[in-house]
Amino acid sequence: MKEMTNVDLAAGLRSRLLYTSIGLAIVVSIIFISVAFNLSTDLGESLEAEHSHYQRDQLKNHIKNLVSKNKKSSFILNENDKTALLTILDEDIIGAEFWFDLQRTQLKKHALYAQNNEISQAIKTNESSEGFFEKEDVRLFWSYQYYPTDNFSLLIVRKTYALDQAISYVVNRLSITAFLTFWLTIWFALFFSALVTKRFEESNDRLKYLATHDVLTGLPNRTFLYQYALAFFHALNIKVSTKKQTKFALYIIDLDKFKDINDTMGHLVGDELLKAISARLNKLCKEYDKNVQVIRYGGDEFVVWSEKTNEEQGRELAEKIVATCRKPIELNHYQFETSVSVGVAFYPQDGVKLDELIKNADIAMYQAKKHRLGFQIFQRDLFTQSEQSISLRGQLNAALQQKEFVLFYQPKVKLPHGNIVGVEALVRWKHPKEGLLTPNVFIDIVEQSMFVHEFTRYIIHQAIFQCRTWLNNNIKLRIAVNISPYNLMDPELVTYIDQQLKEHDVPAEYLEIELTENASMVSIEKTQEVFQQLRGLGVKLSIDDFGTGMSSLAYVKQLNVDYIKIDRSFVTDMVNDKRDEAVIISMLVLCQKLNKLTIAEGVETAEQAEKLAILGCDYAQGYYFSKPLPCDEMTKLIEHQEVGKSVVISQNTIAVK
Ligand code: C2E
Ligand code: CA
Ligand code: CA
Repeated sequence: MKEMTNVDLAAGLRSRLLYTSIGLAIVVSIIFISVAFNLSTDLGESLEAEHSHYQRDQLKNHIKNLVSKNKKSSFILNENDKTALLTILDEDIIGAEFWFDLQRTQLKKHALYAQNNEISQAIKTNESSEGFFEKEDVRLFWSYQYYPTDNFSLLIVRKTYALDQAISYVVNRLSITAFLTFWLTIWFALFFSALVTKRFEESNDRLKYLATHDVLTGLPNRTFLYQYALAFFHALNIKVSTKKQTKFALYIIDLDKFKDINDTMGHLVGDELLKAISARLNKLCKEYDKNVQVIRYGGDEFVVWSEKTNEEQGRELAEKIVATCRKPIELNHYQFETSVSVGVAFYPQDGVKLDELIKNADIAMYQAKKHRLGFQIFQRDLFTQSEQSISLRGQLNAALQQKEFVLFYQPKVKLPHGNIVGVEALVRWKHPKEGLLTPNVFIDIVEQSMFVHEFTRYIIHQAIFQCRTWLNNNIKLRIAVNISPYNLMDPELVTYIDQQLKEHDVPAEYLEIELTENASMVSIEKTQEVFQQLRGLGVKLSIDDFGTGMSSLAYVKQLNVDYIKIDRSFVTDMVNDKRDEAVIISMLVLCQKLNKLTIAEGVETAEQAEKLAILGCDYAQGYYFSKPLPCDEMTKLIEHQEVGKSVVISQNTIAVK
């Protein structure tokens, strides 16, 4: 559609240019011809007059001679003299008359000028005069001359051959010149319009390219994708026979942790990374099949459109994409460990329109990202989960304003005797329609939203407020708050915590911050910096979910924290699986050596608690002791057990062997 318009535009421009040039040529030729015609007429006339004057003067001299020979008072011309005089005159002189003392003698007389008023007037008044006139398509020149000294007047009238000749001569040449000018102009116009149209088309192509390509990476952009899809589906609808066999895969590729790299390393590095990844993707896809289209869909998102692809081939390309993007990238002498999450949707089973395919590939991509799968092929049941996420995402802001987020508290107990020494604040969303939602449903959405800082501040405020309430009731409990790695980028986080502690008059050691260990691999330096500031306030620090991340040891070594929380996954099977037990033992040894206190998470049975206590784990947390409880129930639990004293949770007493 768009191309048609461009062609039309170019053709329109070309014909307009052509017509303008022809019009201009005609105008110029007309001016040229009329000026030249007038000039040649003037020239012809003056030549004519000159020639006539010459003849007139000759005639006059001859007549004067005859008169002087005659020496008579009145002059009468005899036939011989008349013949002699007539021989002097050109053939084109059609009238010759003279007067002596008003006596008229006619040498030649022609009907063409018989009734000319101007001539009659000149004769009548006997005044010298001359002029041109036309009679019966003949142009004539007349000259009446009065010679007062000789009392003699002379009239000659002649056909103006010289003028006609001059005009026809000029007109001939003028027509040739005009014809040439005309053709030259047309050729010039054709050439010029072709040139201009070419330029126009070139700049049009350039504009079209810019509109459909991304400047940074040089890849086609979103607009291109929509045009491409439009053309593709249009062609498909025409060829109904091929429609049934058509299959293709649409991939959404999203860089993992790109936001972190951008935030920590700056946008220039981010741009370079995008360029490198796009080049890699493009190379891989074109090598795989030159018809594959790679599109920069926006930000750090790419779309790959691979035609004639069945599910097996679709999976194969997805694997290749994930593997290729995993290879480290060197930029500015730094090595970047990058990875991508890929979602794949197939035409026609996952959608018959572009929007549908993109939406479903996006759902699959989020799934891949969430579970660190690398890639995920779209499945219908992913859809309902994601529908909920999308709907929740839209309600986040309102939920914050309506204070729909509440904290539940889960005790942390000292091993072996089980005293409650603190609680972990775990957020719940009291959703007006969906009921009580746990963080696994919405925490990802929060972390990816613009409300991540506001959300965490709200949680911190709630926790400190609760701490104050408990302190007022003489319940001295440390509250641990989970923060998202994205919160480390909040420049006001530490100031906010400080201000909240002061405002509620809560000693800093009553607050603990838990950060998941696999959270912020992008910048351990940034984590160090924020942790240092928090430590400066007196806040306690923990590494959460220890053992699940990729850089556990680096974390423990480089981050100055008080507690290490051993992830639930190791605790669950430790009683039955020797390997898990071995891992826990080495973690405990490591933490002891590094002088960190250990908390085992997800303790659900007495055996687990017992074993952990034997192995020397300092604290424990889990359903075995208590599930996370709303604050009033938590208060009851603590009051019942007289916190602060060495209380043993009676039914769960741990026997140390
Ligand atoms: P987490 O920090 O590892 O919290 C412990 C999770 O394990 C909690 O899940 C808790 O209910 C659950 N749990 C505790 N004991 C047991 C047990 O014995 N068995 C089993 N199966 N589970 C147990 P929850 O409350 O659903 O929280 C899930 C995750 O959401 C948390 O994991 C934490 O990473 C995140 N989260 C919770 N609250 C917040 C918050 O306020 N901010 C942020 N950023 N993340 C939060
Ligand atoms: Ca935690
Ligand atoms: Ca944890």
